Amino acid sequence: MQVTQDTLALIGNTPLVRLKGPSEAAGAEIFAKCEFTNPGASVKDRAALFIVEDAEARGLIRPGGTIVEGTAGNTGIGLALVANAKGYRTIIVMPETQSREKMDTLRALGAELVLVPAAPYASPCHFVHTSRRIAEETENAIWANQFDNVANRRAHIVGTAEEIWEQMDGRIDGFTCAVGTGGTFAGVGLGLKQKDERITIALSDPFGAALYEYYACGELKSEGSSVAEGIGQGRITANLEGAPVDTQFRISDEDGLHWVRRLLDEEGLCLGLSSGINVAGAVQLARKLGPGSRVATILCDTGFRYLSTLYNPEWLEAKGLPLPERD
Ligand code: PMP
Repeated sequence: MQVTQDTLALIGNTPLVRLKGPSEAAGAEIFAKCEFTNPGASVKDRAALFIVEDAEARGLIRPGGTIVEGTAGNTGIGLALVANAKGYRTIIVMPETQSREKMDTLRALGAELVLVPAAPYASPCHFVHTSRRIAEETENAIWANQFDNVANRRAHIVGTAEEIWEQMDGRIDGFTCAVGTGGTFAGVGLGLKQKDERITIALSDPFGAALYEYYACGELKSEGSSVAEGIGQGRITANLEGAPVDTQFRISDEDGLHWVRRLLDEEGLCLGLSSGINVAGAVQLARKLGPGSRVATILCDTGFRYLSTLYNPEWLEAKGLPLPERD
């Protein structure tokens, strides 16, 4: 076994696992990238590393500088880890409505938290605009801007897509995942199309997001809602521009939850809801592509981040979601 000298080299090169239950259900071969094995336990470590290293390469941040971002979740955790390893400070702006667990995790990592009231995107108080202002007013600081900074999707073109292609020996018929910033979906989609144009790229959109309608009918329109964290986009971010989209599915929280529970009970994987939605989408895509087809998707983050929500019966009841059927 080799010794890794640099902790940041632990980001990426994640294992690919064949999922038994989903493969059986689809009569196909379904594979998933285990992004929960990144040091920050999510796919967002990849974007965090690329965003910071892109800013360094362009001379936008000098030693001892500060990374500012408006995020409540996995991106903040990834940025805080990368910043610690490189000697930067992190300021994370988040709405005060976010879960206690997330605030505690970010504080434990040493990030400075700025809490703002929940406000619509059009309001100058919105956490994204507040984070941009703080970055502008702070010396030697960068605004990570994960939604519109395409260093985010580059992490997936040169990293995730390349890894999937190699791990599957170039034998892949389709890829699908949901969209938060679009970095993963567009980056993997573009990267795989460069390898083989015949690979079908499918969007798996939760309810409450506007992209299913956009790719189906050209109109940004949403319907319903979802409790999934980290996904559900209402606009075409810079990361999504030019994304190859061959087909799209709309996936319910119930379908996602079904796979979260089966993967936990039958395969020992503890995951967040976006992973379940991705797997539900992969099953649909594999059925569409036909028996024996080979489809890849993303397991975005660990379920240990959702013990007080997804894995908490009272929370599930309050949200009107079904409880797990266990003896
Ligand atoms: N799942 C989770 C749990 C996330 O935190 C995110 C990031 N927002 C995503 C999926 C989507 O990733 P991306 O931002 O690359 O679209």
